Amino acid sequence: MSRFWSDIVHRLTPYVPGEQPALAHPVKLNTNENPYPPSPRVVEAIRRELGEDGASLRKYPDPTARALRETVAKHHGLRIEQVFAGNGSDEVLAHAFQALLKHDRPIRFPDITYSFYPVYAQLYGVEYETVPLNADFAIDVDDYRAPCGGVLLPNPNAPTGRALPLAEIEVLLKANPDAPVIIDEAYVDFGAQSAMSLIDAYPNLLVVQTTSKARSLAGMRVGFAFGDPALIEALTRVKDSFNSYPLDRLAQVAAIASYEDQAWFEEGCAKVIASRERLTSQLRALGFDVVPSGANFVFTKHPALDAATLAAALKEKEFFVRHFKLPRIDQHLRISIGTPAECDALVAALTQIVG
Ligand SMILES: *Cc1c(COP(=O)(O)O)cnc(C)c1O
Repeated sequence: MSRFWSDIVHRLTPYVPGEQPALAHPVKLNTNENPYPPSPRVVEAIRRELGEDGASLRKYPDPTARALRETVAKHHGLRIEQVFAGNGSDEVLAHAFQALLKHDRPIRFPDITYSFYPVYAQLYGVEYETVPLNADFAIDVDDYRAPCGGVLLPNPNAPTGRALPLAEIEVLLKANPDAPVIIDEAYVDFGAQSAMSLIDAYPNLLVVQTTSKARSLAGMRVGFAFGDPALIEALTRVKDSFNSYPLDRLAQVAAIASYEDQAWFEEGCAKVIASRERLTSQLRALGFDVVPSGANFVFTKHPALDAATLAAALKEKEFFVRHFKLPRIDQHLRISIGTPAECDALVAALTQIVG
């Protein structure tokens, strides 16, 4: 604390990201990173951009990320005016809070969801109400019918992993024609239905995606928003009032190369999904309750063992999983899907602990 701090800084409760341990070989299953490397074309593209001497780095990157937005627009069958690119989807979401969610009425999001949402709301002075998930951690879209300043939810939800069918998203859009509805699809490629196909029909829909999870590019920081050009323009106005060059040169070429290797992407997702299903049955065999997941992680609890104790016991064996000290979920652990070898090692460690 300092007398030089602004009032807003005094009042902030910042988001706490998952630990990045300094150990040589931790089994890191706490931040939903992809266990597989990105396409080799990504590495080639970065090398090509750097050249022999890195001379391209002298120059600012394209402030509009035009080539990247064109590639991604084409990939999704959209027009470039329907695509916004930001420095990770966290930044895209932050801009959305300022550009689209600050109205007279409070916005609504689930009581159990991505814990960055309340942080942005506080930072940008956006009023919000949380809507309880039902007892199975499912979202009931009928709970989002009251007029509000906007609706925000991840699909699949985090940290539960539960996915909402596309028809339910459409119910949500129809029930809220006068408010922006933002669907955060950070994990959509691991088995949920994307709302992308509804963009042309619903001018209030903004879909947010990232290259961090399914495309193995968390270290590059590239995220997107897709929607009506008017929504995209709002985000661009905020971006150009904040940082006109949010995506660096290497990030732009890396992300383009990732979208140019569809086979690599699909294979990677299929491997993660197969490991998730296998880990789910192994955990159930050990007595764990596992929420059905459409994401690259599972949300699980053991009926007889305290979650914080379990996380600490795993950490002792250099396995890192995520535990949230939050109401309703403090007995759960969120475990990211690793390679088959990492999942097997985790199951072996849990067998020891539980046994
Ligand atoms: C990981 C995650 C993000 C942020 O992703 P970045 O693009 O790496 O900033 C956004 N929303 C949810 C729900 C996430 O889990």
